[in-house]
Amino acid sequence: MNLGLKDKVALVLAASKGLGMACAKGFYREGANVIICSRSQENLIQAKKLIEKHGSSSDSNIILPIVADLRFEDQILDLVGKTIQQFGRIDILVHNAGGPPSAPIEKISKQDWNNSIDLNLLSFIRIAYNIIPFMQKQKFGRIIAITSVSVKQPLDNLVLSNTTRLGVVGFAKTLANEYAKDNILVNVVCPGPTLTDRMKELIASTVHATDKNEEEVLRNWTEQIPLGRLGKPEELANLVLFLASEKASYITGTTIQVDGGFVKAPL
Ligand code: NAD
Repeated sequence: MNLGLKDKVALVLAASKGLGMACAKGFYREGANVIICSRSQENLIQAKKLIEKHGSSSDSNIILPIVADLRFEDQILDLVGKTIQQFGRIDILVHNAGGPPSAPIEKISKQDWNNSIDLNLLSFIRIAYNIIPFMQKQKFGRIIAITSVSVKQPLDNLVLSNTTRLGVVGFAKTLANEYAKDNILVNVVCPGPTLTDRMKELIASTVHATDKNEEEVLRNWTEQIPLGRLGKPEELANLVLFLASEKASYITGTTIQVDGGFVKAPL
């Protein structure tokens, strides 16, 4: 299927590894220009090499790595500014960020709350304010927020995710309503347990906090998934690419999980 992404400008946040990198690989493969960000220049250079190695269907698209810590508004402004300076437009925003720590409520500090609100919620609101004027001018925009299945089914020991990500869904739905008139489509995707470093960290912290070993913790996850396995990052990226494409021109305001059937609720 030709997704019509060639020469589009896609800004993929938190893309030095995991789900963000899988999305960046997909956009690059489809011929889009891709801006990748994360906190470390070294990791970004490494990521750029890996994405380029994966290949592109075009010989004219590029990857632009930009260092930004998404907890800070000035770094978000700088990221958007550098993207516009290089390309003059932003067609697609994939909002993604590092995951918050896992712990029971009483172990979560004020600092943890502030970090997670900044990183997982406010970064989305802040970048949306900055890119929407460009998308309005273009009369085209696609915004996809990567959250978690926690927005449909709260996860044990993940109160920060369970709380901040619902704010993302509320903001995304409101953006979708208010900016459809400008042909800006906004959707949320919800990964279920997917094999990335984040998942490895969650498994390790459960091993540390319980008397279970790694195999048992992993089994505990996979037993809750009807497809019986963890997801692969590219399986989430496939949906993100589709939602960013011309093929998804009538889809906005949705919240869709990619979770092998993990969420038990019917809607
Ligand atoms: P990951 O740990 O593999 O990658 C996280 C990325 O975020 C890295 O590129 C890292 O450099 C970047 N990052 C972290 N903090 C940042 C900051 N302050 N500023 C800029 N970049 C930053 O994680 P992942 O598995 O790819 O998950 C991505 C998001 O999806 C996370 O929010 C995670 O909680 C969520 N999620 C993941 C899963 C899963 O099973 N992997 C499931 C549900 C939700």
